[in-house]
Amino acid sequence: MIPVAKPYIGSKEKELVASAVEAGELSGNFGRYIGEFESKFAHLCGVGHAIAVSNGTTALHLAIAALGIGPGDEVLVQTLTNMATAFAVSYLGAKPVPVDVDEKTWNIDPGQIESKITKKTKAIVVVHLFGHPVDMDPILEIARAHNLPVIEDCAEAHGAKYKGKVVGGLAEIGCFSFYANKIITTGEGGMVTTNDPALAKKIRALKSLGYGTGSSKFNHDLIGYNYRMPNTIAAIGCAQMDYIESNILQKRHIASRYSTGLTEYADVLQLPIEEAYAMSVYWMYHIVLKGKLQGRRSEFMAFLKKEGIETRESFWPLNAQRIYLEQGFVRSDECPVANYVGGNGLYLPSGPVISESEIEMVLAAVRKAIGRV
Ligand SMILES: *Cc1c(COP(=O)(O)O)cnc(C)c1O
Repeated sequence: MIPVAKPYIGSKEKELVASAVEAGELSGNFGRYIGEFESKFAHLCGVGHAIAVSNGTTALHLAIAALGIGPGDEVLVQTLTNMATAFAVSYLGAKPVPVDVDEKTWNIDPGQIESKITKKTKAIVVVHLFGHPVDMDPILEIARAHNLPVIEDCAEAHGAKYKGKVVGGLAEIGCFSFYANKIITTGEGGMVTTNDPALAKKIRALKSLGYGTGSSKFNHDLIGYNYRMPNTIAAIGCAQMDYIESNILQKRHIASRYSTGLTEYADVLQLPIEEAYAMSVYWMYHIVLKGKLQGRRSEFMAFLKKEGIETRESFWPLNAQRIYLEQGFVRSDECPVANYVGGNGLYLPSGPVISESEIEMVLAAVRKAIGRV
C-alpha cells in the first residue's frame, strides 16, 4: 500500500533527542531546544515571536484565548478545514461562523466575509488549505475596516508564500502544527507566531498556567493552560528545520508530476492551482471529482485502495457538522462550494518520501479508476 503521507525523518533527530535526555532536560519548562526551535521558526516566518506549544489545536486555542474572545462572541471561520480550527473557538464558548470557500483555491472567499460580520464578530480565522496561501490583502482590508484581528491557520502551509511573504506573519497571529503528516513534524507539536509583543507575552503566560503573572510564581492573574512543548520534542523540531526547504521542494515536485499526469482529465478531475500571488507548498495533493465522477468518491477511493493506493477524503465543512447543526447557528446549505468540495474531494499520496515509481503507480491507478468507476 502506498501511504497517503509518510514523513521524512533523518538521523539528526535521534542525536538531538539523546542529548536532551542526557542533559536531563525533558520538560517544556527549560532546555536549549525549545528556544532554539522557536528562534529558527521565527526566522522562517519573519516574525518577532514564535512560541512552541503542544500541538496545532492548542496553538489555535491559545490564539483565540489571547484575543479575549468568550461566550456571546462570534468568530468567522473558513468552513472547509480541519475541525480543530472551529473547535478552538468553541473551547472559549464563542460561536464559529462558517464562511464559504472559493471554487478554484478552496480557501476562504474574501467576497463572502462582509455579509457574515455582525456586532458580535470578534475575529476572522483563515486557513491556508492544503498549503495554498489565502488571498490575504482583501481580507486584511475588510478586517481593518471593521477593526477585527485575523488569525492564520498555517497548519498545512509552513513556508508557503503570499506575494513573496511567508505565511504566519501576514496578520495578527499564525498557528502551526507539527503533526506527523505536516510539512515538518515532531510527531505532535505546534507553534504560535506573532509580531505583537503584548500578544506574545499573553500567549506565553496562557500556555504555561500563568505562572508568575501575579505577585509571585504561584500567584496567578489568569486561568492558564499547560500547552507546553517538551524539550525532547523541540529537539526533533530543531532537526526537522534542516529539511523544511527540501520537503517543500519535494512536495512541489510531487504536485507537478501529478498535475502533468492528470491535466488531460479536466472533464472529471479538478486539480489544485497556484494563483499568481501564491507559492504553494502542496501539503496534500487534493483533487475534486466532477462530471461523470461527481458523487462517486467512495467507489473511486475503493477502486484505488484495491490498486494499493491509500487516499483520504476532503474535510467535512463546519457548516454541515452535526454538533453545530444541533446548536442551531449553522445551516447545512449555507456554504454550497465547500459542500461540493467536501463531498467530492480527496487527496492522493503526498508524503515527502514517495518515490518516482510510486508516483507513476498512483497516476496509473487514477487513470484506471477514471475508466472504470
Ligand atoms: C492538522 C491541522 C490542525 C490541527 O493540528 P494538530 O497538531 O493535529 O492539533 C489544525 N488546522 C488545520 C488546518 C490542520 O490541518
